[in-house]
Amino acid sequence: TVLAFEEPYVFVLANYLTWDTTHCHFCSEKISGGVPCTGCSFAMYCDEKCRYEAATNHSFEHNMLPYHHCHESAIKDLISLRIIIKAGPQFLFNLFQRQKHLIDGNATSDIFFNPNEDTIFGLNESGVYDSKSYLPIYHLISHARQIPLKEAVSNVFRAVVLTCLLRETSKFFDSLKAQYSSDYPQDEFEDFMVSLISKNNLKNESGIT
Ligand SMILES: [Zn+2]
Ligand SMILES: [Zn+2]
Repeated sequence: TVLAFEEPYVFVLANYLTWDTTHCHFCSEKISGGVPCTGCSFAMYCDEKCRYEAATNHSFEHNMLPYHHCHESAIKDLISLRIIIKAGPQFLFNLFQRQKHLIDGNATSDIFFNPNEDTIFGLNESGVYDSKSYLPIYHLISHARQIPLKEAVSNVFRAVVLTCLLRETSKFFDSLKAQYSSDYPQDEFEDFMVSLISKNNLKNESGIT
């Protein structure tokens, strides 16, 4: 009897930045041979299928990987970015607007955290615990803990750098700029992204996380 199962929302291979060619960067299975990413020298996949499945989200990563490699970025930085990328620009922007409405006092029901009253987050349709059904953003905002000021400042600084990297090395924000054109509140939205990333204090930095 299966009581519970848990699959990670995202994961990053421990040796991602040092050319780990032993495990698939999409499904994490052990590979022999495998096919490399065509856009960077870091990712390796079981086969064409895994490479294809990974392509969309991974396309936002290629160009920032050399930077992460040179600066020996922490696994948790890479995980934060993967969560942001998987959540996607539109979801994050909707959440950002929702936060603004909350601050302005115009919010009605809490649609982001309870879109359907019949749904209990974490449980799938059969009532089995399944972390994949969590809203993506929970993984960023639910891991906050009290930390010393010095660490908090360095966290925020790192989050600013990661947000700038995502903007400068990928097309992640382009769809929002196109959609909202002159109404796109770039600075304010990027501050919001920084706040999400800097709240991410995942402690597990070893192995497949
Ligand atoms: Zn694979
Ligand atoms: Zn790549």
